[in-house]
Amino acid sequence: MAVRDAIATERIDALIARESARFREIHPQSRRLGARALAHLPDGVPMHWMSDWGTEFPLFLQQATGARLRDVDGIDYADFCLGDTGAMFGHSPPAVAEVLRARAGSGFTAMLPGEDAIAAAENLAARFGLPYWQFATTASDANRFLLRVARAASGRRKLLVFHGCYHGAVDETFVRLGADGRALPRPGQLAPAFDPSLDTRVVEFNDLAAVEAALADGEVAALLTEPALTNIGIVPPAPGFLAGLRALTRRYGTLLLIDETHTISAGPGGCTRAWGLEPDGLVLGKPLAGGLPASAWGLSAALRERLAAVRETVAGGHSGMGTTLSANALTLACVRANLEQVMTAAAYADMFALADRLEAGLNALIARFALPWCVVRLGARMEIDFTPQPPRNGSEAAAAMRPALEQALHLYLLNRGLLVTPFHTMLLLSPHTAAADIDRLCATLGAALAELTGVEA
Ligand code: PMP
Repeated sequence: MAVRDAIATERIDALIARESARFREIHPQSRRLGARALAHLPDGVPMHWMSDWGTEFPLFLQQATGARLRDVDGIDYADFCLGDTGAMFGHSPPAVAEVLRARAGSGFTAMLPGEDAIAAAENLAARFGLPYWQFATTASDANRFLLRVARAASGRRKLLVFHGCYHGAVDETFVRLGADGRALPRPGQLAPAFDPSLDTRVVEFNDLAAVEAALADGEVAALLTEPALTNIGIVPPAPGFLAGLRALTRRYGTLLLIDETHTISAGPGGCTRAWGLEPDGLVLGKPLAGGLPASAWGLSAALRERLAAVRETVAGGHSGMGTTLSANALTLACVRANLEQVMTAAAYADMFALADRLEAGLNALIARFALPWCVVRLGARMEIDFTPQPPRNGSEAAAAMRPALEQALHLYLLNRGLLVTPFHTMLLLSPHTAAADIDRLCATLGAALAELTGVEA
């Protein structure tokens, strides 16, 4: 019997078995659609990761509004996943829905800019302090384009990322740290176009000495990072780490690129604004258009100048950046409405108050069950990390992962009308989240932990 923090694997397995049977029983419509889907959708889903929820068949969505959603069996959920940040300000934010209604007959895409693009760029410049902006469709695209710009502007090829990072479908970033300190391709990639470890270096987060060693030969075009790692639980930066990154990247002529796709939970200008970061480039995606696909990448004045100079030397042809539907008129109207009316300081104040309530509730559970766990929070986003202290780097975070326990907790909650992300234990608050749903989440999690630990709730 393997026991860690008083949770035996037998209990976890038994709970998963029972809750899987219950899931099957209460979702006849999803089960029916799941069977039908298999004929023409591999794994029964339109994108393969949608089958990663740890359920026998997918949960099929009926509709979602605010911080709630309903499945095709008519079951309602309080949504703490919020499309893994895409719907962080609520499903169908009214200001964005209104744009869609009003512009439904005015054309969607024409390869021409409109005034909305200017207003959106003005808003982003005021938030993040970077003057120049371009738009794309996904954060993955924006990261790819920004890396290309960084390499073009610097005339260097190498990149630096942190072990445990995730920046989307960006081939160059699929590396992990090998035992000898060298980069290795990250496992699981499907036929990579090239070996990413050739040009990408990787070191541990919160290790400035390793960062300096990786930058010291002056060959690294850009360091791409989230301000706190959020894709391997949350790994917060140690005091002085981000300032150290800025100083080192300046010293060695490396561009500092900050990916705020998830950390926009920290405030209207992400961690960049909240913590006074001074990146050369910045990426924002997921919630930018209120849940429709859109992303943006920002440039400092200096980087924009370097880019302009390089582009003059390139004769015609394709830049390698773009995609036809990116920055289409309808999407940019949604981006503008979302930035101006939805992602407001007032919305963040509401989210933070709700996050205070959830954080207190989770900490009370950890104390009640005497679990060696902690809650790590970035504004409206938090994780239960299965370590007594927040992990300091990707290796520590990876070692603390407990996939079976996560699956057990997620299934237990799902079967009781509470949706959390299938990846680790991330919980997001929207301005529409009901305080009563937070209390229900904590009470239900308490019941699951009572069962798993054998300790009376
Ligand atoms: N950057 C970060 C930090 C992310 O977490 C993700 C996705 N989880 C991305 C970029 C890519 O976003 P998308 O899948 O929307 O392209």
